[in-house]
Amino acid sequence: MKIICIGRNYRAHAEELHRDTGLSEGGNAEPVWFLKPDTALLRNNDPFYIPAFSQEVHYECELVVRIDRVGRSIAEKFARRYYNEVGLGIDFTARDLQRRAIAQGLPWERAKAFDRSAALSPEFVPLADLGGDVQNLRFELSVNGQVRQQGSTAEMLFTVDRIIAAVSQYTTLRMGDLIFTGTPAGVGPVAPGDCLRASLEGRELLNFDIR
Ligand code: ZN
Repeated sequence: MKIICIGRNYRAHAEELHRDTGLSEGGNAEPVWFLKPDTALLRNNDPFYIPAFSQEVHYECELVVRIDRVGRSIAEKFARRYYNEVGLGIDFTARDLQRRAIAQGLPWERAKAFDRSAALSPEFVPLADLGGDVQNLRFELSVNGQVRQQGSTAEMLFTVDRIIAAVSQYTTLRMGDLIFTGTPAGVGPVAPGDCLRASLEGRELLNFDIR
């Protein structure tokens, strides 16, 4: 199982990331993606422990698509056949390490792929129960009861089907693979004692503590 993460898939977040890290705002012809290993998974709303190597871990709330069919070089028009359920996740990011990596032109793995950096909702919801259109879903994240991120998948720069088509040109998608589809604006740091709650179309899927 692999975790595929999309970078800069919402314009307002690409702008805030540019201001924070100096990374270009994108405008790429293809989605930018990177991998997290399966050891990055944080399941069952277990608490997230801030790792000692970072002074600035950020939350990034994202719609997660679970692949349920094997495929490679998938045409965009057939991509919908490869998923049926969606959930929510947090792409925890050691922003201080990422800033350094970007400045040095180095890969992002130390900032992105560390243990428990991919929080995943225990529940995945059939798209049919959410109206059927993956590009018309609202989700939001609150920290300690205050809304910090609100997104609609209608605002994605690269649609889920386009992402599947692009990534599968390079790497085979397998059952159980997860695609973190990028975060809307409003990312920020977590601190011990914080409580993160995230909902998809009004259904609370994530509710866990930072330690
Ligand atoms: Zn992300």
